[in-house]
Amino acid sequence: MNSPQFEASIDLGAIASNTAVLQECAGDAAVMVVVKADGYGHGAVPVARAALAAGAAELGVATVAEAVQLRDAGVTAPILCWLHAPETDFAPALQRNISVAVASPRHLAGLLSAARTSGIQAKVAVKVDSGLNRNGVSPDDWPALRDDLARAVADEAVVVTSFFTHLAHADEPDHPVIDVQVSRFRDTVSDAERHGIDPGIIHVANSAATMTRPDLRFDMVRPGIALYGLSPVPERGQMGLIPAMTVRGQVALVKKVAAGEGVSYGHVWTAPVDTTVALIPAGYADGVPRNLTGKFDVMLGGRRYPTVGRVCMDQFVVDLGAGATEVREGDSAILFGTGAQGGPMAQEWADALGTIHYEVVTGIKGRAVRTYC
Ligand code: PLP
Repeated sequence: MNSPQFEASIDLGAIASNTAVLQECAGDAAVMVVVKADGYGHGAVPVARAALAAGAAELGVATVAEAVQLRDAGVTAPILCWLHAPETDFAPALQRNISVAVASPRHLAGLLSAARTSGIQAKVAVKVDSGLNRNGVSPDDWPALRDDLARAVADEAVVVTSFFTHLAHADEPDHPVIDVQVSRFRDTVSDAERHGIDPGIIHVANSAATMTRPDLRFDMVRPGIALYGLSPVPERGQMGLIPAMTVRGQVALVKKVAAGEGVSYGHVWTAPVDTTVALIPAGYADGVPRNLTGKFDVMLGGRRYPTVGRVCMDQFVVDLGAGATEVREGDSAILFGTGAQGGPMAQEWADALGTIHYEVVTGIKGRAVRTYC
């Protein structure tokens, strides 16, 4: 059956090019690319492969399950995962040579127990909470974690792969809290060293810090959003990055609407003149938010057209205007993409929705068919 298509097309050449931009910013530091949340909605495995082939050294994800998915797909590069439910079974990570970041003595105990049971030495990273006050070991928990870790290192039950922290204000490069966090993080690393723990690779910088704060490169950088070509500091423009995701919907119907007729649920838009509309079969079930109603354009045949009427679960409507139209059923409308020829970009959706482009690209779902080029 040939249903009208809603497509998220992923340009792996853009992923490679963005990796090169990030490596350039990183200088001699290694690049760990963050491919959590299924590669920010772009597909973790193909994105990881493209970034590694373009020079990325490591992969970062949130959960053990995400790391296992990459390893089981045949990805052999170092992988780090850092966000764990209380009863997480770490054995699958150990069995697959995946580094596990701990944020509390409980995490380390769980990892040590899995290491004992499996007879495999654990690779452990320490996620330091230096002021984000979210995930990471708190100053209260640090002394206990440090002492347990020092013992585990001495017993050779674990090797420490890295110490890292995450910034609260990286997208405001001059924010004073950045330096406060870095100073606390350095203190924690020094304290670990004083207690006989070799901290391994040190990393701090997400995309924004990688691209704006060369002083925060340390041994490795840890960018996510920039890999996908979305600017980590939008007011600075694209910064040489190419958006990798282009979302397209096929025109399912073209029809006339008479002046005075309302369009879509609630008739929140009424045709001011006789006009032609096009129906695109994608809606809020697919990641086109209902709150975008009346606030976004699509690109059809190299021209921008406004969308009108409520965005529904499976469809929305484009006003093609009065007079003859070149638009035909089966044509492809760009919802957002690279911005070529002035076309819409994910940032416009984010602005219209009062959110960030991270949420826009990770939100594309439902019937969207992912394709790669
Ligand atoms: N490091 C950690 C711990 C993260 O949680 C994230 C994403 O939220 C990143 C790095 C990548 O951040 P960004 O996508 O802003 O580059």
